[in-house]
Amino acid sequence: MSFPSSADEGEPGTNRNNPLFSIHLIFTLIVLSALTACQSNNKNEKKPPADSQQRRADSLLQQQRAQRQADSLATMQKKKAARKKIYLTFDDGPNKGTSNVLSVIKEQQVAVSFFIVGKHVFDSPQQHANWELLKADSAIELCNHSYTHALNRYTKFYQDPAGVVQDFQQSQEKLQFNNKVARMPGRNAWRIDSIRVTDIKESRAAIDSLHNAGFAIMGWDIEWSFNHKTMTPDPDTALLLRRIKNLLDAGTTQTPGHLVLLAHDQAFQKQPDIETLHGFIRELKNNEEYEFVLASKYPGVK
Ligand SMILES: [Zn+2]
Repeated sequence: MSFPSSADEGEPGTNRNNPLFSIHLIFTLIVLSALTACQSNNKNEKKPPADSQQRRADSLLQQQRAQRQADSLATMQKKKAARKKIYLTFDDGPNKGTSNVLSVIKEQQVAVSFFIVGKHVFDSPQQHANWELLKADSAIELCNHSYTHALNRYTKFYQDPAGVVQDFQQSQEKLQFNNKVARMPGRNAWRIDSIRVTDIKESRAAIDSLHNAGFAIMGWDIEWSFNHKTMTPDPDTALLLRRIKNLLDAGTTQTPGHLVLLAHDQAFQKQPDIETLHGFIRELKNNEEYEFVLASKYPGVK
């Protein structure tokens, strides 16, 4: 019995000694290695190294976090822009009551503007000291309320437009205000952007002259009145707050959404009145609808 030798096994043409078989084998190996290389390239495209994947994931997370922060900032800014603006202004200082008002404002941390009478800064050492206190506080704003306050003779004062301009310029030069917002003594007049209001028409020429000299003239939408004999403020702050709300809600202030409130330093000399001022400012401050703003930020003031 004879068995076929291993060399005889298999199909014809598969004999390893056959040159055709060798060529076939080499060709197969080349194709296989090319396929393997190709597959490994494909793998590289689909599956990057682990650290590169991690970097991509981190960068995506960072982008998402930045977007969320930008969104919440935009919402906050929108809410802030929608708030009604309160311009709390105190006239006629420095005088009695100025340091009390200043200490209330410092404690409450709100934006407040003082309309200064130039002459008052030099009337007494105490007034000068109060001026220095006001100047040292960078959070408040100091504006021009004339040098002489017309010496309280308004009719005569407004008959001389050049004299009115000169009076305000004197304060501007001596006190070096960093803005040109002014308030007329004894008159509720406005010259800001397109707002032109003259309460007593005999004063018009003088007020126009001051405006033409580069001053933005701010009157007021509402006054916190005070008793000129007892030097005490109207204690009914609930009524004052309701009137403020009504004016803003009705859009009947000079600029809708913006309310200028006039008060006087000298009304806050006694402790109970200082407490009233504290309470009043606290009420406005705690109302999310409102925001305190400095006079120079009023729309249209350059
Ligand atoms: Zn005044």
